[in-house]
Amino acid sequence: MALQLVLYLLGLLGSLLVSTAPIENWLQSIQVPGSGRFWHISDLHLDPTYHITEDRTKVCFSSQGSPALNPGLFGDYLCDSPYELIQSAFRFMREEDPNPDFMIWTGDSPPHVPAEKLSTDLVIRIISNMTHTIREFFPDLPVYPALGNHDYWPQDQLPIATNEIYQAVAKLWEPWLQPESLTTLRKGGFYSQVIRPNLRLVSLNTNLYYSPNKVTVNMTDPAGQFEWLVDTLDTCRQSDEKAYIIAHVPIGYLPYALETTAMREVYNERLVEIFRKYSDVVAGHFYGHTHRDSIMVLLDHEGQPVNSLFVTPAVTPFRHESEPSSNNPGLRMYYYNPHDYSLLDIWQYYMNLTEANLEKKPDWKLEYIMTKDFNIVDIQPKSLYGLAESFRAPQSETFKKYFNHFMHAGAKTDWELRRMAAVNRIPGVKQAPDGEIKGALATGGEFGFQ
Ligand SMILES: [Zn+2]
Ligand SMILES: [Zn+2]
Repeated sequence: MALQLVLYLLGLLGSLLVSTAPIENWLQSIQVPGSGRFWHISDLHLDPTYHITEDRTKVCFSSQGSPALNPGLFGDYLCDSPYELIQSAFRFMREEDPNPDFMIWTGDSPPHVPAEKLSTDLVIRIISNMTHTIREFFPDLPVYPALGNHDYWPQDQLPIATNEIYQAVAKLWEPWLQPESLTTLRKGGFYSQVIRPNLRLVSLNTNLYYSPNKVTVNMTDPAGQFEWLVDTLDTCRQSDEKAYIIAHVPIGYLPYALETTAMREVYNERLVEIFRKYSDVVAGHFYGHTHRDSIMVLLDHEGQPVNSLFVTPAVTPFRHESEPSSNNPGLRMYYYNPHDYSLLDIWQYYMNLTEANLEKKPDWKLEYIMTKDFNIVDIQPKSLYGLAESFRAPQSETFKKYFNHFMHAGAKTDWELRRMAAVNRIPGVKQAPDGEIKGALATGGEFGFQ
């Protein structure tokens, strides 16, 4: 997910491929007959004001007065997504694989703009636009959404009871969800639904636990979601179902801040405890929000890896002007075993925004295949933990690769600094006082920017 680092990455991939098989052979070998697959998109952040104009401070509201860097047809690194970019993403997905089993969509449709530029009505219109766009490209595909912190007005303040927005999305997502799912969605912004034989998708409203949400301060169980989640996972266990957890705000540490969880710590601890207790039921976690391609591993009390957690990069290339690094638009496909729903692989795709703008062609490409790029057999907890352990080695090549995918880090990347930041989050290396409680390993390794 990088600007110039993508070039480095492609160089790496290229050198790997020279000594092995051409990519087509690899594609065939990985697409195990009978394996299931699903698309994951997140953080579309449509900016309807995006347009090319002489005055670069006026290209998009989301740059908030900063001059756009290099605006083109598919966007700019200081702006949220033009509609053209979003359409190109879905068009690419349809061409690449029009018939996956389903799609997950982990929230954040509106742009990063001050509250006064939006309203409840505008937020609903933007979510509606994105919903209709997905249905236009994939009319028959089941899509399972989760709400993001931007999918409300004012942003982050998602409430614990029914409101205009929960009701509006329940209406919009009616074609995809069952009546029982719509009932809890209307009430609290979350739901669960059996989506394959013995597979239940659990869509959490983790925005209720997000630190900037003032509505839920001091509440022990906002909207009763914890109790509902435990009941739901209990039902799964009794019915021999596996669960996929989808949500916008992830558990664990934020990848771009030191020792800071995205959720309030008390909520983070509670969720980690629930996920540990039901780690035999949960077959995968899928998040968005940070706009960073990252992995986490949930450890049990004995330090054994029990769950794999994935944060997908964003479709929007947006960053604040003060941030030194940009992301290219990204989206991904997961492969899974259709018998036990264990996760097999990730195919990560990206668009090099600079090139696409230059060529006026969307140019979405395969960025990496996780098992191949990191030389792991699958993406289950043991394999991911082994990968994270390999980051401990000084000058770790796997960490360089990981960080290349994670984000463009500017010209003066200090690999060792960033590697140490990631390694310090691996329990047993440097135990933060509350490290045991957080339990999750966030392997972002980005800190000390500014
Ligand atoms: Zn976002
Ligand atoms: Zn978000």
